[in-house]
Amino acid sequence: MAKDADVIVVGGGNAALAAALAAAERGRRVIVLEKAPQEWRGGNSYFTGGGFRFAFPDPEALRPLLPDMTDAEWAQYDIPPYPEDQYYDDLITVTEGLTDPDLADYLVRHSYETVRWMRDLGFRFALLLRRQSYVVDGRTRFWGGLIVEAVGGGPGLVDRWYELAAAHGVDVRYSTPAVRLVTDETERVVGVEVVQDGRRRILEAEAVVLAAGGFEANPEWRARYLGPLWDLVPVRGTPYNTGDAIRMALDIGALPWGHWSGCHAVAWDANAPEHGDRKVGDQFQKHSYPLGIIVNRNGERFVDEGADFRNYTYAKYGRAILAQPGRVAFQIFDAKTVPLLRDEYRIRQVTKAEANDLGTLAERLGIDPARFVATVEAFNRACDPTTPFNPAVKDGKAARGITPPKSNWAVPLDTPPYVGFAVTCGITFTFGGLKINDRGQVLNTRREPIPGLYAAGELVGGLFYHNYPGGAGLMAGAVFGRLAGQNA
Ligand SMILES: Cc1cc2nc3c(=O)[nH]c(=O)nc-3n(C[C@H](O)[C@H](O)[C@H](O)COP(=O)(O)OP(=O)(O)OC[C@H]3O[C@@H](n4cnc5c(N)ncnc54)[C@H](O)[C@@H]3O)c2cc1C
Repeated sequence: MAKDADVIVVGGGNAALAAALAAAERGRRVIVLEKAPQEWRGGNSYFTGGGFRFAFPDPEALRPLLPDMTDAEWAQYDIPPYPEDQYYDDLITVTEGLTDPDLADYLVRHSYETVRWMRDLGFRFALLLRRQSYVVDGRTRFWGGLIVEAVGGGPGLVDRWYELAAAHGVDVRYSTPAVRLVTDETERVVGVEVVQDGRRRILEAEAVVLAAGGFEANPEWRARYLGPLWDLVPVRGTPYNTGDAIRMALDIGALPWGHWSGCHAVAWDANAPEHGDRKVGDQFQKHSYPLGIIVNRNGERFVDEGADFRNYTYAKYGRAILAQPGRVAFQIFDAKTVPLLRDEYRIRQVTKAEANDLGTLAERLGIDPARFVATVEAFNRACDPTTPFNPAVKDGKAARGITPPKSNWAVPLDTPPYVGFAVTCGITFTFGGLKINDRGQVLNTRREPIPGLYAAGELVGGLFYHNYPGGAGLMAGAVFGRLAGQNA
């Protein structure tokens, strides 16, 4: 009897759709199983800003991705190259040397080519002007190795994937969770058990690609693997990523891999809901902290806000906030830096206070006023007065002799009105998952490929440990999704 499909893809986000398109391009009959209803399709990918981190040797290499930009427009921008070596070094540095060298190397070497593939498929890209650049001396300078976004951000990205899937004849089934992998007597994966229209049934295929996200939306697994208090954190994105596909793979003997007690977690509005809101998207995040200071309820600083560009620190500072009293922290700015804050600071759903003196600001935010004022005064005295401030480079304008120091962008807080934003820890995605080889195949605990089983996206372990360079999630999903789809 004919199988239901050649390839079944479990999941409906960026990694899954990249796999589906790569397989469909090769003439394979593809079914995509999306657990969420259609109005929630796209997983965490929908919630993103759509930023893709890829290597490029020279800004000229960006031009084929942005064909509508004129020479005059290009001339306004200062875009530092982002060579493969630097991308690789960034992965090594942020993961404290733990990233799997083969995975990291594959991601870096195939990043540009994969974005070109997406462009050829029909994606449109734009410069990340408002998020990854500052105007300095009349020129717009980009920073942090993340330059390009999909047009329309995460929603635009997801909608485009689904339009392309439809155009390539991919059979998308919404509200259809996969619940079990079906294997034959040789341990080959031959299908998936699903729940469709309230009934369990088995769909057969030659190969299955797992791309159903991590376990960030599962409070029990968060407490179990990430540790105490993680069950309490708000989820930044989809409520549907509950680790199902990881569990299904472990049930048939897959090897657990990567940083199971690690995750991506950021500063997130203190009053954000339990999981992501599709209308607000990523705007509950508060990513401009390198321009100010962060204190806890006791008025104490606890991280180096200027250790690096926010791309390289934001994903680990959520954990630092979770460790503070009441799981809250406060980002503080003065009138000099407020104009530089990202758009997400100006949304209606923001938890903020403003005052003309520091003590009043502290009282309004619920911070110990005396200790807060002492912290700010000590910080201001420690700020290097001679080095010029430049937000587009690591300017070395430091505050030293205090604990912790602030290594860059240390500008005294001395110009009222002062503004404070209350944030908590919001979890983005988990780092633990499955081990894949260079064909995208899932390995078992004997470290052999499980025949017929591939994986991509958040549920692949081994790439990210402790921290993550911004824009690498979508890129890894597209690169390894395409790999899985090509081989499945
Ligand atoms: C607010 C926010 C902003 C972000 N911004 C960026 C950014 O700008 N750049 C970047 O690179 N990364 C960003 N990320 C990270 C990025 O979202 C992820 O790295 C990436 O989207 C993961 O893609 P994925 O396809 O693996 O998972 P997802 O996009 O989450 O897709 C998983 C899919 O699996 C489905 N699913 C779950 N269980 C089942 C099941 N049992 N059966 C069938 N389907 C199932 C889900 O419904 C979902 O459709 C951001 C994340 C968030 C939350």
